[in-house]
Amino acid sequence: PVVISLFNALTGLAVAFEGFVLNNAAMIIAGTVVGSAGTLLTQLMAKAMNRSLANVLFSKFGAGGGGEEAVAGTMKPIDANDAGIMMAFAERVIIIPGYGMAVAQAQHKIWELTELLLKRGVNVKFAIHPVAGRMPGHMNVLLAEANVPYDMLFDLDEINADFQQTDVALVIGANDVVNPSARSNPDSPIYGMPILNADQAHNCICIKRGQGKGFSGVENALFYGDKTRMLYGDGQAMAAELITAIKQL
Ligand code: NDP
Repeated sequence: PVVISLFNALTGLAVAFEGFVLNNAAMIIAGTVVGSAGTLLTQLMAKAMNRSLANVLFSKFGAGGGGEEAVAGTMKPIDANDAGIMMAFAERVIIIPGYGMAVAQAQHKIWELTELLLKRGVNVKFAIHPVAGRMPGHMNVLLAEANVPYDMLFDLDEINADFQQTDVALVIGANDVVNPSARSNPDSPIYGMPILNADQAHNCICIKRGQGKGFSGVENALFYGDKTRMLYGDGQAMAAELITAIKQL
């Protein structure tokens, strides 16, 4: 994401230089605005991944190999009824959306689910990782589209300390942004990237379709954890099943 953002910035700067050559003030101004906004975003994204720009550009690229820890344990499935009961009787729930929520277009169902939980007195928050999804602000845009109030959305720094007091972390279509190997395995390609501490919640329910890996292609130990249960299926369909399960209580 950092490199993509840098390319965007360079596009703007190229237009600005073209403006100089063609003596076109509009191109100079527009190019400078795009270039500076892109540069700022590049810096913010690099900071979000805890890497310097030079490190992103010049460290070994895609050379991973051998860096992955073998993950012990098995993935333990759960059905929507049991997951619904866990969430309905929880005191605190944190929802972590990721790229899979965008693919499934599950944001509306997730908001419907949230409203049901709020009516039952559950404290619900959304945890937004700065590089969740496939573009900056991806999750914020999707959740805003579903009318999720902005004050329910919390950035990584604001919410990470809350996980230890959280009964259920619901991970929907997120993978790399909750991968504990970013904290524990120095050889992992994503080592050092701050992650959302879903593994520290009392229970974690992960909605995904199967064994698919995230953008980085790294195995995720969270899915094998003792406190984690996998709710297999498409994000939207599973959110709908959770809604049905909670309505039946
Ligand atoms: P990831 O890409 O790590 O993981 C997405 C997960 O969603 C997959 O494991 C997949 O598993 C699951 N999934 C896919 N489709 C569905 C579906 N229909 N229903 C349910 N689950 C689904 O996502 P994250 O958001 O955690 O991380 C973003 C990654 O993208 C980071 O590595 C980041 O660096 C990178 N990135 C971010 C950019 C940005 O600007 N935000 C830009 C470019 C890259 P399964 O196949 O088993 O369903």
